[in-house]
Amino acid sequence: NKRIKIKELLQSKQTGHKVTVMGWVRTFRNNQFIALNDGSTNNNLQVVVELGLLDDETLKRITTSASLKVIGEVVPSPGKGQKMELKAAAIEILGDSDAEKYPLQPKKHSLEFLREIAHLRFRTNTFGAIFRIRHSLAFATHKFFNDKGFVYLHTPVITASDAEGAGEMFRVTTLPIDNPPRKENGDVDFTEDFFGKSTNLTVSGQLEGELGATAFSEIYTFGPTFRAENSNTTRHLAEFWMIEPEMAFCDIEDNMNLAEEFIQYLIRYAMEHNGEDLAFLDQRLADEEKQKPQSERSEMGLLEKLRFVTENKFERITYTEAINILLDSPAYKKKKFKYDVAWGIDMQSEHERYLVEKHFKKPVIVTGYPAAIKAFYMRLNDGCEPGKETVAAMDILAPGIGEIVGGSQREERLEKLEQRMTDMHLPVEEMSWYLDTRRFGTVPHAGFGLGFERMVLFVTGMTNIRDVIPFARTPKNCEF
Ligand code: ATP
Ligand code: MG
Ligand code: MG
Ligand code: MG
Repeated sequence: NKRIKIKELLQSKQTGHKVTVMGWVRTFRNNQFIALNDGSTNNNLQVVVELGLLDDETLKRITTSASLKVIGEVVPSPGKGQKMELKAAAIEILGDSDAEKYPLQPKKHSLEFLREIAHLRFRTNTFGAIFRIRHSLAFATHKFFNDKGFVYLHTPVITASDAEGAGEMFRVTTLPIDNPPRKENGDVDFTEDFFGKSTNLTVSGQLEGELGATAFSEIYTFGPTFRAENSNTTRHLAEFWMIEPEMAFCDIEDNMNLAEEFIQYLIRYAMEHNGEDLAFLDQRLADEEKQKPQSERSEMGLLEKLRFVTENKFERITYTEAINILLDSPAYKKKKFKYDVAWGIDMQSEHERYLVEKHFKKPVIVTGYPAAIKAFYMRLNDGCEPGKETVAAMDILAPGIGEIVGGSQREERLEKLEQRMTDMHLPVEEMSWYLDTRRFGTVPHAGFGLGFERMVLFVTGMTNIRDVIPFARTPKNCEF
């Protein structure tokens, strides 16, 4: 009488035994065939209700989305497209559902509409597939790093530091917002606050991660990250998940190799464990592509793209080479870019996407960014032309996404680091805890951050980041 998941039932070759299943009704045809789904797979279990099993009253209650417990015998199915079905011996209605009011009618809904009913969208095939794949990628992340002997270090959600210095922090405070205590000069007095200082939600676990790496040699963090991004794009969330490995005794080259291996591992893992769901999304995308004019269609299907990425090395170029490619491009010459191109710019996503989608047609790792546009902790490259200082940074750009990884070798030389912090007006004193890793046995070390949702976007072929996180937080949107 123990419940069996529908996926497990459909995968087993056995018939003739009695089982219990529970799930939600997707459709009910001819008062006879229930398509039952429990979220373990997009494949519904066909439950056959023989004449006379249920009275008319009960039959009427088997509506779309009603929840059921069914006990029955697994029998070979005479129908096409399914090997077995369940001949019901007893059906119990666990929860009724008013099918007329149920927002998810058995038809194709737009993603925009489904975003509005995000509380129910898990019950659709598209989101069923996406979130099972997301789960697998999270699981594979832990497996990948665990197998390599990394320690999973939990870095704090509330911090007093802004790792990126980008000022995109959400404040954490218990001070009264209407009338906070103030200092004589009128500024808010955070010494009165819960932590006795101004605090915020983490924008990256990296700095804390470095403390772990300089003790355990190799660590990774994987947790929620918060940025008050004012940009409303299809690639940014206010709350997203980031995977941040940090490795001691590691240079920029090892760092790139690890990131590439990790991305390929995740894709392969999903292809091995989520074949059905990927095939579903592949088909969904193919149907969508058919709606587009020939010239706008992508050259590869989803599965084809994923296979290609696991079988081919990523392109590796320097920032300077990237800028030169852009300056040489027909897009630049025909003034197709919205933002200007010149050595020193922080490449915009249109530039990054040109490089991966039009020029190289594969993932690209860009290294050696100008120091001026990168964070203070990145290692200064030796022997730069004055005014053209670069750092040992690397970004991985992916087709259809743009930046998916940001990483660097860290500045391990105390003096250079202090100098850079001073130049950038960072509070050297306050960050003494960070500098201690350089004072007491400094080592070359490196790490990167992979935006988990961007990785899920890449693997699922979806195009809006709101569709690959269960509960999206974006400007003016935090419904529940
Ligand atoms: P972008 O240029 O796209 O704004 P970033 O350079 O600000 O990204 P990093 O600070 O390098 O981002 O963070 C590391 C990774 O985290 C990025 O490569 C990206 O994959 C992911 N990421 C950054 N910001 C967001 C966001 N707001 N929502 C989702 N993922 C993000
Ligand atoms: Mg950003
Ligand atoms: Mg960036
Ligand atoms: Mg970045």
